[in-house]
Amino acid sequence: MPELPEVETVRQGLAPVMEGAVFKRVEARRPDLRFPLPPGFVRKLTGAKVDVLSRRGKYLVVTLATGDSLIMHLGMSGRFTISEQSDTQPGQFAHNNETDQKHDHVIFQMRGARPATVVYNDPRRFGFMDIVKSENLEECRHFKGMGPEPLSNHFSVPVLNAALRGKGASIKTALLDQRNIAGLGNIYVCEALYRAGVSPRRRAASVYGRRAERLFPAIVNTLREAIKAGGSSLKDFASAEGELGYFQHRFDVYDREGEPCKACGAVIQRLIQGGRSTFFCPFCQR
Ligand SMILES: [Zn+2]
Repeated sequence: MPELPEVETVRQGLAPVMEGAVFKRVEARRPDLRFPLPPGFVRKLTGAKVDVLSRRGKYLVVTLATGDSLIMHLGMSGRFTISEQSDTQPGQFAHNNETDQKHDHVIFQMRGARPATVVYNDPRRFGFMDIVKSENLEECRHFKGMGPEPLSNHFSVPVLNAALRGKGASIKTALLDQRNIAGLGNIYVCEALYRAGVSPRRRAASVYGRRAERLFPAIVNTLREAIKAGGSSLKDFASAEGELGYFQHRFDVYDREGEPCKACGAVIQRLIQGGRSTFFCPFCQR
C-alpha cells in the first residue's frame, strides 16, 4: 500500500506531463472505483488546465485553473502509467502485460509541453478520485482534520509532542492515525520507530523529551530517504512508458521477522497491533 514516499514519487513522475498541460480527453471506463466517480467527472476535467500537481498525506491533488481540484488516492493497488507517444489513441496502450488492460479504469490524454497519455490502473479498486472546489480543499471530507505534513515546515518536535499528548494508544497506532500526522503507513512507522529506538508498544503519551527528539528526525529522515530512493528508481521509468507506484526499498526492520537486527544482532520480532504487523528489535527499541 503506497505511503507518503511512494505517493510523492508518483507525484514527481506525473508532474512533468501534467503540470501546465490541459486534459485533452478524459475517459472513465467504469462509473466507480472504491467510490463512484464524482458527478460531471469527465466534463469538469476535459479542457481544464493543470496549475499544480501537489500531495497531501497519501493523496495527489491536481489543482485546475477552473477553480476545481482533482483528488486522487491510490488505495492498495492503484498505479499510473505514462505513455508519451503523442499519437496514441484512447484504448490502444502499450502494456508490459496485456491482460492487465482490463484494470485500466481512468485515462487522461494530456496536451502540453510533453503530450502524454496517463492511465490509472487499479486491479483491486481501493483507490478513488474526487473533484472538490479548490477553495474548500482543506475542509473537504478527505482532508478535514488531517494532521500536519511531516515534511513541511509545520512539523517539529513541539508539533509531534502536541500530537501525542494524552494519547492512550500505542505509539505505533498513534503514528498510523492520519489525524495525528499525515502520510505515514505501516512500513515507515516501523522503520521510524526502529531508527528512534522507541518501542512500538510504548504508550503514545509517554513519547516525549529525548524520545520525541529522536523520533522527530527519524520520521523525517526515513521519509526523505525513501523519497530519494523512489526518485532514483524513477529515473529508470522516465522514458516513454513509465509505471509509477511501487518501489523496492531497503528496510531495517519491516518484513524482516527472524532476521538479525543490523545494530545489535538480536532477532527482529513481529507482533500484531491494530490488525497490522509491527516489526521491531526488542533490544534496540525501548
Ligand atoms: Zn537491535
